[in-house]
Amino acid sequence: MTFNHKPTIIEKAAEALHVIENLHDHGGDPVPESYQGEQRSCPPPESWDSWIEYDPTSWPEKKAREYMLVPTSCFNCEAGCGLLAYIDKETMQIRKFTGNPYHPASRGRNCAKGPATINQVEDTDRILYPLKRVGPRGSGKWERVSWESVLHDISSRMRKALQEKRNNEISYHVGRPGHEGFMDWVLKAWGVDGHNSHTNICSSGARFGYAIWQLYDRPSPDHSNAKFILLVSAHLEAGHYFNPHAQRIVEGRMKGAKLAVLDPRLSNTASMSDYWMPSYPGSEPAVLLAMAKVIIDEGLYNRAYLENWVNWQQYLEAEYPDRPMTFEAFIEALGEEYQEYTPEYAEKESGVPADTIRDVARQIGDAGERFSTHVWRSASSGNLGGWAVSRTLHFLNVLTGSVGTPGGTAPSAWNKFKPTFHTHPEPQKFWNPLHLPDEYPLAHYEMSFLLPHMLKEGRGKLDVYFTRVFNPVWTYPDGFSWIEALEDESKIGLHVALTPTWNETAYFADYVLPMGHSPERHDLVSYETHAGKWIAFRQPVLRVAHERRGTPKEYTWQANVGEVWEEDEFWIELSWRIDPDGSLGVKKHFESPYRAGEKITINEYYQYIFEHTPNLPEAAKAEGLTPLAYMKKYGAFEVETDVYNVHETPVDISGASLDGSSRTIYRDGKPVGIQVCGDNCTGFPTPSRKQELYSQTMVDWKWPEYRLPAYIRSHVHPETIDRSNNEFALIPTFRLPVLIHSRSGNAKWLAEIAHRNPLWINAGDAAAMGIANGSLVRVNTDIGFHVNRAWVTESIRPGVVACSHHIGRWRRDQDAKGNRWASNLVAINREEKGKWRMRVKESVEPFESPDPDSGRIFWSDGGVHQNITFPVHPDPISGMHCWHQKVRIEKAHADDQYGDVFVDTDRSFEIYKEWLAMTRPAPGPGGLRRPMWLNRPLRPADETYYIK
Ligand code: SF4
Repeated sequence: MTFNHKPTIIEKAAEALHVIENLHDHGGDPVPESYQGEQRSCPPPESWDSWIEYDPTSWPEKKAREYMLVPTSCFNCEAGCGLLAYIDKETMQIRKFTGNPYHPASRGRNCAKGPATINQVEDTDRILYPLKRVGPRGSGKWERVSWESVLHDISSRMRKALQEKRNNEISYHVGRPGHEGFMDWVLKAWGVDGHNSHTNICSSGARFGYAIWQLYDRPSPDHSNAKFILLVSAHLEAGHYFNPHAQRIVEGRMKGAKLAVLDPRLSNTASMSDYWMPSYPGSEPAVLLAMAKVIIDEGLYNRAYLENWVNWQQYLEAEYPDRPMTFEAFIEALGEEYQEYTPEYAEKESGVPADTIRDVARQIGDAGERFSTHVWRSASSGNLGGWAVSRTLHFLNVLTGSVGTPGGTAPSAWNKFKPTFHTHPEPQKFWNPLHLPDEYPLAHYEMSFLLPHMLKEGRGKLDVYFTRVFNPVWTYPDGFSWIEALEDESKIGLHVALTPTWNETAYFADYVLPMGHSPERHDLVSYETHAGKWIAFRQPVLRVAHERRGTPKEYTWQANVGEVWEEDEFWIELSWRIDPDGSLGVKKHFESPYRAGEKITINEYYQYIFEHTPNLPEAAKAEGLTPLAYMKKYGAFEVETDVYNVHETPVDISGASLDGSSRTIYRDGKPVGIQVCGDNCTGFPTPSRKQELYSQTMVDWKWPEYRLPAYIRSHVHPETIDRSNNEFALIPTFRLPVLIHSRSGNAKWLAEIAHRNPLWINAGDAAAMGIANGSLVRVNTDIGFHVNRAWVTESIRPGVVACSHHIGRWRRDQDAKGNRWASNLVAINREEKGKWRMRVKESVEPFESPDPDSGRIFWSDGGVHQNITFPVHPDPISGMHCWHQKVRIEKAHADDQYGDVFVDTDRSFEIYKEWLAMTRPAPGPGGLRRPMWLNRPLRPADETYYIK
C-alpha cells in the first residue's frame, strides 16, 4: 500500500473545498516506512508477516495497524478462489479478506462473496458449541454437550453398525463438497457405500451429457485464447468457477473473441454478449443440432479430428453395414441423420431466429479449434432430457476439433489435480440401493433427492446419517417430504448435522456440530478453470498465524472461536474411535505415515500430499521451504501450465495387444489406448478410446433412440403447457451473482445487496392477465402453491416466468435464531396428514446483537421459499432433478399473503411414482447394475456391480 498517490483534479478541488478530508497532506507526520513504495494491488509476500495499514474505521484519525497476512481459499462457491486474511497482530482477529494474487485461477480477483467471508466469521448468530437435541426432533430444544461425548456416542453407534454388517445404514450426505478426495478416503476406510451428494439437484444432467462422449464429465474451456465463445448459461456472473472463467472470457473478448449466449432470460451475461439467443426452456439441443447441421452441410467441420478421434467406424458398422467404411460415407450418413434439424425447425422450437442460428454456426465453423463452450446447470438441470444440452453442445466442439486445443474446450480431468494419499483403502464391498437404486442404472450421481420417498417405500433405513453443509429441507424440491422423513426416528436413527450456521435441516437433527468457515479449516482445492492444473490450500488462518508467531495449536478448534471444529480433524478423531483396537480394519488408515502406530495429524495428512505433488517439492526447495511450508505461505501452486491435447500422449504398449480393425490397444482385456496415424496414444477413457458420437452404451442400456446426440423434448415443452389456462414454464434455477444457494443468510453485506426473489414475467403476459408490477400472484405447482410478487419486465421471453433460487429462508418460533439478515419467521402447520401450510409471521427486521449493523437493517423482504412447492422430477437417464416446473399463474386470492406456501406431500409421492415409471431399470448386459466404464461416486468393488 502506498500514499505516493498524486491527487486528481477532482480530489484537489474536493480537498480545497473541504468536501473531503485532505488525504494528501500528512501534516508533517512521518509516514511509516512500510507505507512507502509503488502502488500495488496486494502487499508482497515478504511483508506478509508484518504489514501496516491505516485502520479505515478510525478515519479521519490515522491509526496504523499491523497485520499478518495468511492465504486461504474461499468456500462461498465451488470455484475455491484465493483469499488473503488480514489478521490484526494485536488482537489476533481477522479484520478482512482480499484476493490472493498467487492463486493461479482467481489471480487475486474475487466476486463480492469472497470478501463477505468476514461477515460469516463474525456472524453473531453462529453456532459455537456442539448441541444435542433434548425434546422431540424438530422441537427446537437443545443442550450444550462436550465434543468428547459427541465423539463417543457417534463412534460407538457406528462401530456397532459395522460389526453387525449394517454398513449401508451409515450415510454421509454432502451439500457443498471440496475436500479433494478426503471423504472418499474416509468412507472407503470405513467400508461403507455411504457417499451421497447434492449433485443430482445441481449438475449431473450436464455431467452425463459430457460423460457419454468421453467419460470426463465437465468442460474446461480455454476462453482467453478463444475466437468464439458459446455459453448456455449466465456464466459471466454465475455458475461453476464463474469468477476464474469470467475473467478469461473478458480477456478473450479483449483479444477479439465473439460471445454468444443461449438463455431465456436477459441475464447480465446475455446483456454483455454479441448474440443473445433467448431460447424457449429445453429447446437448446434443437438449436445446437441445427448449428451442427449447418457445420456438416457447409463442410465447416474439422475433417482430421473427426476422422481420427471419433468412433465413426463403429457407427457405420452398427447402422449402415452395407455402406463403404469411408469417411465420406460417414459424413453422408450424418447429414441424413440430422436433416430435420434445419435452422427453421430450431426456430420453431426455440424462438431463436433461423438466420441467427446460421450466423452463429458459421462463426463457430470459422473459429474452428478456437471455439470454447460452457454449460453447467442452466438448461441441463432444468429439463427432462437436459443432459442432451451438454451432449449437443460438445458435439459442436467435436465437429470443429476444438476438444482440448488452445482456445477450445478441454475435458475437466485434464485440468484438475488428483492428490496422492498415504494409504489406499480397498473399495467397499457394498452397494447402497438407497443412493443408487437399480431403476436408474445410468444416474450419474446418487438419487439423493428421492431419499424421503425411498425411505417411505421401506427400501431401507439409516442408522447414522451425517449431513454436511447440506440443507435439503430448504434447497431441495419437496422439502416437506424431507421434514416428514427427518422427523421419523424409525427411518433415520441418528441425524448429525455438521454446519457452520443454523439451517432449516439442522433444526431436525439430533446433533448440531459447529464446523469452521473457509478460513477456519483445512481443505485441498483444485478445479478446471483454464488450460492448467493447480491446487489451493484452504487453511485455518488463525492457526497458521499462531504458528508464525510461535504459539502453535495442536488442533484447529483451539485457534477458532468457541469450540468450532474443522471437519478433517473431526473425521480423523471419529474414525480412530470407531476402531480402537484395529479389529475392523479402519484404524490403520488413520495412522501417521511418519510415526508408526500413532494417529495422523492434519499437518501430516497434507504434508504427505504436498510431498507427492509433481513439481511442488522442487519449487519449495528453491525457496528453502518444505512443500507444506510453501503451501502455508502462498496458499496455492500451479502444478502444470498449457495443458493441451492430452489425448495424444504416447502410451506404453509393452505387454499390450492391438486390435487390428479398431486400432484399440488393450492391456489385461481393458482398452488403454488407440493407434492413430501410426502413433500409440492414450486417447479418451471410453470403450473405443475415442469420442463416442455413437453410443453403444445407450443401445445396451435400452435407450437406442439416443445412440447419437439427440433432442429430447422437455417436460415443459409448449405442447405440455396450456397457455389459455395461464400456464407457464417456470425457470427456478438462476443464481444471483452475490448470493450463495442457501448459505448467504449470515452474510450481511450480501443480504443488503440482494434480498428479493420476485417472479419475472414478460410485460405482454402480465398485461394480458392484468398483473401489475409488484402485485401478488399465486404460483400453482403440481403439489401446491406459493405466493410471490410479480416483476414485470421485457427481460424474459413470453410464456416463461423465472424466480431466483436463493431467497426465502425461514425459521420458526422454536428454532434458534440464525441467518436473521435474510430469514423470515414463519408458522408451519400440518393441517392434516400430508397437507402443509407455511405463513410468514415476521419478515426481516432490525435486531439487537453485538454487531451494530444488525440494528440498521433497512430491508424487510425475506423472499419466498419456492423450492418446497416443487415435486421431484428425476430424469430417467441422468437421474438429474429436472427443476423447471409447469406452473399456473393467477392473481393472489383474497386471503393470500406474500410468502404463503401450501404443499400436499401425498401428491408429491404420487408424482415421484409417475417419474419412476419412466425409467428402464437394470440389469443391463451381463446382469450389471450400471456400465462398468462410466464413473460412479465412491466406486465400490467390481463384484457389487452385478445384480445377484
Ligand atoms: S467466485 Fe466468488 S464465491 Fe466463488 S470462490 Fe470465487 S470469490 Fe468465492
